Amino acid sequence: MIIGCLALNASFEPLTMVPMRRALRLVLDGKAEIVEADAGRLVRSERLALPHPAVIRLVKFIHVPRRFRRQVTNTFLFARDRYRCQYCGRKLMDLRPRESLTRDHLVPLSRGGSNGWDNVVTACSPCNTRKGNRMPEEIGMHPIVPPVEPHFVHLSWAIRRLTPTQAKYIRLFYGENVLHQLEALEARH
Ligand SMILES: [Zn+2]
Repeated sequence: MIIGCLALNASFEPLTMVPMRRALRLVLDGKAEIVEADAGRLVRSERLALPHPAVIRLVKFIHVPRRFRRQVTNTFLFARDRYRCQYCGRKLMDLRPRESLTRDHLVPLSRGGSNGWDNVVTACSPCNTRKGNRMPEEIGMHPIVPPVEPHFVHLSWAIRRLTPTQAKYIRLFYGENVLHQLEALEARH
């Protein structure tokens, strides 16, 4: 069963998953067109019956604000870093009871650091405490993988709910490799 609908930008860039009601509203308002529908299922309203949309495409191209794209949540951050502390290399499953994965700022917030993708890394709680308010070079703690903004990570939460039809559009836009990467990330949960 399709839980949500994959929304594409006018450029066919996959944007996000939207709830079915919202997808239908966009279609009825003429703001989106149905690209793929779930055959055999109809959504009936008083006046008309619509196929159940699986993939919709916005009629007008929308510019996704940079700050939205750059927003870092711990879910995406930990996924980007493969659920691994970027200082000691331990993975989530290696942590002891009461230890956890946390967000560490390379340049601490208290010293002007940002919450941007290039300044945050996944750290276990002991490493985060050890680093404290110091710069990487002051304490000699450098991340295993230098942090960069992932161009696709905002989709990673959605991939586990994608149907094969929806996944096709991820593959079309980003390529097979990205789809495999996303599926591999989800498999680690
Ligand atoms: Zn650590």
